[in-house]
Amino acid sequence: MKSPVEDWTEGRFNSFIVSTLRAGVRRFPNKWKALEAAAHGVGLNEATGRKAKLYFCNHCSKLFTAKHIQIDHITPVVDPVVGFTTWDDYISRLFCEIENLQALCIKCHKLKTAEEKQTRTGKTALKTSLKPRMRTHSCTLKKPSRVRGGATKSGVTSPPRQKKNSRQLLKTK
Ligand SMILES: [Zn+2]
Repeated sequence: MKSPVEDWTEGRFNSFIVSTLRAGVRRFPNKWKALEAAAHGVGLNEATGRKAKLYFCNHCSKLFTAKHIQIDHITPVVDPVVGFTTWDDYISRLFCEIENLQALCIKCHKLKTAEEKQTRTGKTALKTSLKPRMRTHSCTLKKPSRVRGGATKSGVTSPPRQKKNSRQLLKTK
């Protein structure tokens, strides 16, 4: 897409669009629903010594706290074989049906992303000049500060405003 910003290259403009869209996923209800679907009760968070909601990794089947769980697009947003096609396609695959979303632990998500990357090498990539800083975004949920009565929030809340290091990256490729 040609950049309407004079001193931006096409690649930079594309990066801007991608990061803007990706940032929007955090407010995408299906993402939170997918996370809730992976919820598996409350356990002890060994890092904090507090109780925390636990989530199933759909790949290794182990339990993790929200901080260590990411929502993955089962069918990647950009097909690793076909490469980038159109923005219409990109948007509909990014904001997909819940059936295409799964909870993965960071390790499993990394592995899947790496595999996709390998497939992608040499394919038509979306032209982006910069590493989009925000192409990934937080998929961590607020730690349940109070776990009382087992009541859980709907999960459609905004992600926490936390320090940068807690902004786990959600690579939805
Ligand atoms: Zn896993």
